[in-house]
Amino acid sequence: MRTSFISTRHSLGAQISMKSIRQALQTIAALSVVVFACATGHVSAQSGVLNLYSARHYSTDEALYTNFTKATGIKINRIEAGEDALLQRLKAEGANSPADVFLTVDAGRLWIAEQEGVFAPIQSTVLNERIPESFRLASGTWYGFSSRARVIVVDRSQVKDGEVSTYEDLANPKWKGQICTRSGSHVYMLSLLSSIIEHAGAEKAEAWAKGVVANLGRQPKGGDTDQLKAVAAGECSIALANTYYIARLIKSDKADERAIMQKLRVVWPNSAGRGVHMNVSGGGVVKTAPNRANAIKFMEYLASDEAQGYFANGNNEWPVVKTATIKNEALDSMGKFKADPINMIALGKNQRLAQEIVNRVGWK
Ligand code: FE
Repeated sequence: MRTSFISTRHSLGAQISMKSIRQALQTIAALSVVVFACATGHVSAQSGVLNLYSARHYSTDEALYTNFTKATGIKINRIEAGEDALLQRLKAEGANSPADVFLTVDAGRLWIAEQEGVFAPIQSTVLNERIPESFRLASGTWYGFSSRARVIVVDRSQVKDGEVSTYEDLANPKWKGQICTRSGSHVYMLSLLSSIIEHAGAEKAEAWAKGVVANLGRQPKGGDTDQLKAVAAGECSIALANTYYIARLIKSDKADERAIMQKLRVVWPNSAGRGVHMNVSGGGVVKTAPNRANAIKFMEYLASDEAQGYFANGNNEWPVVKTATIKNEALDSMGKFKADPINMIALGKNQRLAQEIVNRVGWK
Protein backbone atom coordinates (compact mmCIF):
# COMPACT_ATOMS: atom_id res chain seq x y z
CA MET A 1 0.00 0.00 0.00
CA ARG A 2 2.62 2.34 1.16
CA THR A 3 4.85 1.36 -1.65
CA SER A 4 1.94 1.63 -3.99
CA PHE A 5 1.05 5.00 -2.53
CA ILE A 6 4.58 6.12 -2.86
CA SER A 7 4.67 4.61 -6.27
CA THR A 8 1.45 6.36 -7.20
CA ARG A 9 2.77 9.60 -5.85
CA HIS A 10 6.00 8.99 -7.59
CA SER A 11 4.18 8.14 -10.78
CA LEU A 12 1.97 11.26 -10.39
CA GLY A 13 5.10 13.30 -9.76
CA ALA A 14 6.64 11.81 -12.84
CA GLN A 15 3.48 12.57 -14.84
CA ILE A 16 3.51 16.15 -13.61
CA SER A 17 7.11 16.61 -14.42
CA MET A 18 6.65 15.00 -17.87
CA LYS A 19 3.71 17.34 -18.47
CA SER A 20 5.79 20.31 -17.36
CA ILE A 21 8.59 19.27 -19.66
CA ARG A 22 6.17 18.85 -22.58
CA GLN A 23 4.66 22.24 -21.82
CA ALA A 24 8.09 23.74 -21.49
CA LEU A 25 9.12 22.23 -24.81
CA GLN A 26 5.93 23.53 -26.42
CA THR A 27 6.59 26.95 -24.95
CA ILE A 28 10.17 26.88 -26.22
CA ALA A 29 8.93 25.79 -29.65
CA ALA A 30 6.34 28.58 -29.68
CA LEU A 31 8.92 31.08 -28.48
CA SER A 32 11.31 29.96 -31.19
CA VAL A 33 8.66 30.78 -33.78
CA VAL A 34 8.21 34.21 -32.23
CA VAL A 35 11.96 34.74 -31.99
CA PHE A 36 12.37 33.59 -35.60
CA ALA A 37 9.57 35.86 -36.72
CA CYS A 38 11.15 38.75 -34.85
CA ALA A 39 14.54 37.87 -36.26
CA THR A 40 13.30 37.78 -39.84
CA GLY A 41 11.29 40.93 -39.21
CA HIS A 42 14.40 42.39 -37.68
CA VAL A 43 16.48 41.58 -40.73
CA SER A 44 14.18 43.35 -43.17
CA ALA A 45 12.90 46.11 -40.93
CA GLN A 46 15.76 47.04 -38.66
CA SER A 47 19.28 46.32 -39.73
CA GLY A 48 18.48 46.04 -43.41
CA VAL A 49 17.19 48.69 -45.67
CA LEU A 50 15.49 51.99 -46.19
CA ASN A 51 13.57 52.61 -49.40
CA LEU A 52 13.82 56.28 -50.24
CA TYR A 53 11.65 58.01 -52.84
CA SER A 54 13.42 61.24 -53.58
CA ALA A 55 13.09 64.08 -56.03
CA ARG A 56 16.68 65.06 -55.16
CA HIS A 57 19.63 64.09 -57.32
CA TYR A 58 22.68 66.00 -56.17
CA SER A 59 26.20 64.62 -56.05
CA THR A 60 26.72 65.82 -52.46
CA ASP A 61 23.82 63.62 -51.36
CA GLU A 62 26.08 60.59 -51.88
CA ALA A 63 28.02 61.59 -48.76
CA LEU A 64 24.73 62.02 -46.93
CA TYR A 65 23.63 58.45 -47.70
CA THR A 66 27.05 56.86 -47.19
CA ASN A 67 27.42 58.44 -43.76
CA PHE A 68 23.95 57.26 -42.70
CA THR A 69 24.73 53.69 -43.78
CA LYS A 70 28.11 53.84 -42.01
CA ALA A 71 26.52 55.03 -38.78
CA THR A 72 23.51 52.69 -38.75
CA GLY A 73 24.25 49.76 -41.07
CA ILE A 74 21.04 50.58 -42.90
CA LYS A 75 21.38 50.41 -46.68
CA ILE A 76 19.49 53.02 -48.68
CA ASN A 77 17.66 52.00 -51.84
CA ARG A 78 16.88 55.11 -53.83
CA ILE A 79 14.14 55.71 -56.34
CA GLU A 80 14.70 59.10 -57.93
CA ALA A 81 12.27 60.85 -60.22
CA GLY A 82 10.56 64.20 -60.67
CA GLU A 83 8.41 65.48 -57.78
CA ASP A 84 5.05 64.94 -59.43
CA ALA A 85 6.03 61.59 -60.98
CA LEU A 86 7.08 60.28 -57.56
CA LEU A 87 3.82 61.32 -55.92
CA GLN A 88 1.85 59.65 -58.73
CA ARG A 89 3.93 56.50 -58.31
CA LEU A 90 3.33 56.44 -54.56
CA LYS A 91 -0.40 56.79 -55.09
CA ALA A 92 -0.47 54.10 -57.80
CA GLU A 93 1.45 51.65 -55.60
CA GLY A 94 -0.88 52.27 -52.67
CA ALA A 95 -0.51 49.83 -49.77
CA ASN A 96 2.01 47.77 -51.77
CA SER A 97 4.50 50.61 -52.05
CA PRO A 98 7.99 49.72 -50.80
CA ALA A 99 8.56 53.42 -50.03
CA ASP A 100 9.62 54.29 -46.47
CA VAL A 101 10.47 57.98 -46.83
CA PHE A 102 9.27 60.46 -49.45
CA LEU A 103 11.38 63.59 -49.99
CA THR A 104 10.12 66.42 -52.16
CA VAL A 105 10.28 70.19 -52.51
CA ASP A 106 7.90 73.02 -51.71
CA ALA A 107 5.45 73.21 -48.82
CA GLY A 108 2.66 73.19 -51.42
CA ARG A 109 3.68 69.75 -52.67
CA LEU A 110 4.26 68.43 -49.15
CA TRP A 111 0.81 69.68 -48.25
CA ILE A 112 -0.80 67.91 -51.22
CA ALA A 113 1.04 64.66 -50.39
CA GLU A 114 -0.19 64.96 -46.82
CA GLN A 115 -3.77 65.65 -47.95
CA GLU A 116 -3.63 62.60 -50.20
CA GLY A 117 -2.73 60.45 -47.19
CA VAL A 118 0.83 59.62 -48.24
CA PHE A 119 2.40 60.23 -44.83
CA ALA A 120 1.85 58.75 -41.39
CA PRO A 121 2.59 60.97 -38.40
CA ILE A 122 5.67 60.14 -36.36
CA GLN A 123 6.58 60.98 -32.79
CA SER A 124 10.13 62.23 -32.69
CA THR A 125 11.50 64.44 -29.95
CA VAL A 126 14.70 64.86 -31.97
CA LEU A 127 12.81 66.27 -34.97
CA ASN A 128 10.41 68.35 -32.91
CA GLU A 129 13.28 69.92 -30.99
CA ARG A 130 15.59 70.52 -33.96
CA ILE A 131 13.25 71.59 -36.75
CA PRO A 132 11.70 75.03 -36.09
CA GLU A 133 7.91 74.99 -35.80
CA SER A 134 7.43 77.10 -38.91
CA PHE A 135 9.15 74.43 -41.02
CA ARG A 136 7.08 71.39 -40.04
CA LEU A 137 3.58 70.16 -39.46
CA ALA A 138 2.69 69.93 -35.78
CA SER A 139 1.07 66.56 -36.50
CA GLY A 140 4.50 65.12 -37.34
CA THR A 141 3.48 64.10 -40.86
CA TRP A 142 6.21 66.05 -42.63
CA TYR A 143 9.30 68.04 -41.79
CA GLY A 144 11.26 70.64 -43.76
CA PHE A 145 15.01 70.01 -43.89
CA SER A 146 16.31 72.93 -45.94
CA SER A 147 15.00 76.30 -46.97
CA ARG A 148 15.04 78.45 -50.09
CA ALA A 149 13.86 81.98 -50.78
CA ARG A 150 11.89 83.27 -53.76
CA VAL A 151 13.49 86.55 -54.74
CA ILE A 152 13.02 89.27 -57.35
CA VAL A 153 15.74 89.61 -59.94
CA VAL A 154 16.10 92.76 -62.03
CA ASP A 155 18.10 93.91 -65.02
CA ARG A 156 20.82 96.18 -63.57
CA SER A 157 20.74 98.44 -66.64
CA GLN A 158 16.94 98.91 -66.60
CA VAL A 159 15.88 98.99 -62.95
CA LYS A 160 17.49 101.42 -60.53
CA ASP A 161 18.56 100.30 -57.08
CA GLY A 162 15.52 100.49 -54.79
CA GLU A 163 13.02 101.00 -57.61
CA VAL A 164 11.59 97.55 -56.96
CA SER A 165 11.65 96.49 -53.34
CA THR A 166 8.50 94.43 -52.71
CA TYR A 167 6.45 91.71 -54.38
CA GLU A 168 3.64 94.26 -54.43
CA ASP A 169 5.77 96.50 -56.70
CA LEU A 170 5.46 93.87 -59.46
CA ALA A 171 1.80 94.85 -59.87
CA ASN A 172 2.65 98.52 -60.43
CA PRO A 173 1.49 99.52 -63.98
CA LYS A 174 4.85 101.29 -64.30
CA TRP A 175 6.33 97.86 -65.18
CA LYS A 176 3.90 97.06 -68.00
CA GLY A 177 5.40 94.56 -70.43
CA GLN A 178 8.54 94.15 -68.31
CA ILE A 179 7.86 91.16 -66.10
CA CYS A 180 8.65 87.54 -66.91
CA THR A 181 7.34 84.65 -64.79
CA ARG A 182 6.90 80.93 -65.10
CA SER A 183 3.34 79.60 -65.13
CA GLY A 184 1.14 80.98 -62.38
CA SER A 185 -0.04 77.42 -61.77
CA HIS A 186 3.43 76.18 -60.86
CA VAL A 187 3.69 75.28 -57.19
CA TYR A 188 6.40 77.94 -56.58
CA MET A 189 4.05 80.66 -57.81
CA LEU A 190 1.08 79.18 -55.95
CA SER A 191 3.08 79.11 -52.71
CA LEU A 192 4.17 82.73 -53.14
CA LEU A 193 0.57 83.73 -53.85
CA SER A 194 -0.52 81.65 -50.82
CA SER A 195 1.80 83.70 -48.64
CA ILE A 196 0.28 86.93 -50.01
CA ILE A 197 -3.22 85.56 -49.32
CA GLU A 198 -2.10 84.84 -45.75
CA HIS A 199 -0.68 88.32 -45.20
CA ALA A 200 -3.07 90.53 -47.15
CA GLY A 201 -6.22 88.50 -47.67
CA ALA A 202 -7.64 86.87 -50.80
CA GLU A 203 -9.03 90.05 -52.32
CA LYS A 204 -5.73 91.96 -52.27
CA ALA A 205 -3.87 88.83 -53.39
CA GLU A 206 -6.14 88.57 -56.42
CA ALA A 207 -5.69 92.25 -57.27
CA TRP A 208 -1.94 91.70 -57.07
CA ALA A 209 -2.02 88.64 -59.33
CA LYS A 210 -4.16 90.57 -61.82
CA GLY A 211 -1.66 93.43 -61.78
CA VAL A 212 1.30 91.11 -62.37
CA VAL A 213 -0.47 89.39 -65.29
CA ALA A 214 -1.19 92.82 -66.81
CA ASN A 215 2.56 93.57 -66.63
CA LEU A 216 3.77 90.34 -68.24
CA GLY A 217 6.18 90.85 -71.12
CA ARG A 218 5.42 87.42 -72.61
CA GLN A 219 3.27 84.35 -72.08
CA PRO A 220 4.59 82.49 -69.02
CA LYS A 221 6.90 79.69 -70.08
CA GLY A 222 9.88 77.68 -68.83
CA GLY A 223 11.34 77.35 -65.35
CA ASP A 224 13.03 79.87 -63.06
CA THR A 225 16.34 79.72 -64.94
CA ASP A 226 14.52 80.58 -68.17
CA GLN A 227 13.16 83.74 -66.54
CA LEU A 228 16.68 84.75 -65.47
CA LYS A 229 17.90 84.18 -69.02
CA ALA A 230 15.00 86.24 -70.41
CA VAL A 231 15.95 89.21 -68.21
CA ALA A 232 19.63 88.91 -69.15
CA ALA A 233 18.60 88.78 -72.83
CA GLY A 234 16.57 91.99 -72.46
CA GLU A 235 13.21 90.33 -73.04
CA CYS A 236 12.01 91.51 -69.60
CA SER A 237 13.46 93.66 -66.82
CA ILE A 238 12.09 91.84 -63.80
CA ALA A 239 11.60 88.18 -62.84
CA LEU A 240 11.12 85.88 -59.87
CA ALA A 241 13.41 82.97 -59.03
CA ASN A 242 14.29 80.64 -56.20
CA THR A 243 17.70 81.39 -54.73
CA TYR A 244 19.28 78.03 -55.60
CA TYR A 245 18.78 78.67 -59.35
CA ILE A 246 20.69 81.92 -58.95
CA ALA A 247 23.45 80.25 -56.93
CA ARG A 248 23.75 77.58 -59.65
CA LEU A 249 24.35 80.24 -62.31
CA ILE A 250 26.84 82.14 -60.12
CA LYS A 251 28.79 78.89 -59.55
CA SER A 252 28.47 77.59 -63.08
CA ASP A 253 31.58 76.38 -64.87
CA LYS A 254 30.11 77.80 -68.09
CA ALA A 255 31.11 81.42 -68.73
CA ASP A 256 27.83 82.25 -70.52
CA GLU A 257 25.82 81.11 -67.47
CA ARG A 258 27.94 83.18 -65.09
CA ALA A 259 27.47 86.15 -67.45
CA ILE A 260 23.69 85.96 -66.92
CA MET A 261 23.96 86.84 -63.23
CA GLN A 262 26.50 89.57 -63.94
CA LYS A 263 23.74 91.45 -65.77
CA LEU A 264 21.21 90.97 -62.98
CA ARG A 265 20.68 92.28 -59.45
CA VAL A 266 19.05 90.24 -56.69
CA VAL A 267 16.37 92.12 -54.75
CA TRP A 268 15.42 90.74 -51.35
CA PRO A 269 11.71 91.60 -51.36
CA ASN A 270 9.82 93.16 -48.47
CA SER A 271 12.97 93.64 -46.36
CA ALA A 272 11.34 96.59 -44.63
CA GLY A 273 8.20 94.56 -43.99
CA ARG A 274 7.37 90.89 -43.60
CA GLY A 275 10.51 89.63 -45.34
CA VAL A 276 11.20 87.39 -48.31
CA HIS A 277 8.94 84.42 -49.10
CA MET A 278 10.63 81.22 -47.89
CA ASN A 279 9.91 77.63 -48.79
CA VAL A 280 11.24 74.18 -47.92
CA SER A 281 12.62 70.88 -49.12
CA GLY A 282 11.38 68.17 -46.85
CA GLY A 283 9.71 64.87 -46.41
CA GLY A 284 7.94 62.39 -44.24
CA VAL A 285 7.52 58.74 -43.39
CA VAL A 286 5.22 56.96 -45.82
CA LYS A 287 2.06 55.56 -44.23
CA THR A 288 2.69 52.02 -45.47
CA ALA A 289 6.47 52.09 -44.81
CA PRO A 290 7.71 48.49 -44.45
CA ASN A 291 10.77 49.79 -42.56
CA ARG A 292 9.20 52.43 -40.36
CA ALA A 293 11.82 52.39 -37.60
CA ASN A 294 14.59 52.88 -40.17
CA ALA A 295 12.57 55.65 -41.79
CA ILE A 296 12.35 57.57 -38.51
CA LYS A 297 16.08 57.04 -37.94
CA PHE A 298 16.79 58.49 -41.39
CA MET A 299 14.52 61.49 -40.80
CA GLU A 300 16.30 62.15 -37.50
CA TYR A 301 19.67 61.80 -39.20
CA LEU A 302 18.65 64.46 -41.74
CA ALA A 303 18.18 66.86 -38.83
CA SER A 304 21.73 66.31 -37.53
CA ASP A 305 24.17 69.20 -38.01
CA GLU A 306 26.33 67.15 -40.36
CA ALA A 307 23.49 65.93 -42.57
CA GLN A 308 21.89 69.39 -42.59
CA GLY A 309 25.08 70.79 -44.12
CA TYR A 310 25.14 68.21 -46.92
CA PHE A 311 21.40 68.31 -47.48
CA ALA A 312 21.14 72.08 -47.75
CA ASN A 313 24.36 72.70 -49.63
CA GLY A 314 23.60 69.97 -52.18
CA ASN A 315 21.02 72.26 -53.74
CA ASN A 316 22.45 75.61 -52.58
CA GLU A 317 19.85 75.96 -49.84
CA TRP A 318 20.04 76.89 -46.17
CA PRO A 319 19.79 74.41 -43.28
CA VAL A 320 16.64 74.79 -41.17
CA VAL A 321 18.33 73.60 -37.97
CA LYS A 322 19.79 76.65 -36.22
CA THR A 323 23.03 75.00 -35.04
CA ALA A 324 23.84 73.73 -38.55
CA THR A 325 25.95 75.96 -40.77
CA ILE A 326 27.12 75.91 -44.35
CA LYS A 327 29.76 77.73 -46.31
CA ASN A 328 28.27 78.62 -49.67
CA GLU A 329 29.91 81.61 -51.30
CA ALA A 330 27.30 81.91 -54.05
CA LEU A 331 24.52 82.19 -51.46
CA ASP A 332 26.61 84.54 -49.30
CA SER A 333 27.25 86.78 -52.31
CA MET A 334 23.51 87.49 -52.54
CA GLY A 335 23.71 89.34 -49.22
CA LYS A 336 21.88 89.20 -45.92
CA PHE A 337 18.11 89.07 -45.85
CA LYS A 338 15.04 89.04 -43.68
CA ALA A 339 12.92 85.89 -43.93
CA ASP A 340 9.13 85.90 -43.77
CA PRO A 341 8.47 83.94 -40.55
CA ILE A 342 5.11 82.64 -41.82
CA ASN A 343 4.32 79.01 -40.98
CA MET A 344 4.65 76.66 -43.97
CA ILE A 345 1.17 75.35 -43.18
CA ALA A 346 -0.28 78.60 -44.54
CA LEU A 347 1.31 77.90 -47.90
CA GLY A 348 -0.39 74.53 -48.12
CA LYS A 349 -3.72 75.61 -46.73
CA ASN A 350 -4.06 78.51 -49.24
CA GLN A 351 -2.86 76.48 -52.20
CA ARG A 352 -6.31 75.73 -53.63
CA LEU A 353 -7.49 79.31 -53.29
CA ALA A 354 -4.27 80.46 -54.96
CA GLN A 355 -4.99 78.15 -57.90
CA GLU A 356 -8.52 79.57 -58.20
CA ILE A 357 -7.13 83.11 -58.26
CA VAL A 358 -4.54 82.17 -60.88
CA ASN A 359 -7.27 80.66 -63.05
CA ARG A 360 -9.49 83.74 -62.66
CA VAL A 361 -6.79 86.24 -63.59
CA GLY A 362 -5.58 84.07 -66.49
CA TRP A 363 -2.02 83.59 -65.20
CA LYS A 364 -1.51 80.65 -67.56
FE1 FE B 1 13.18 74.05 -58.27
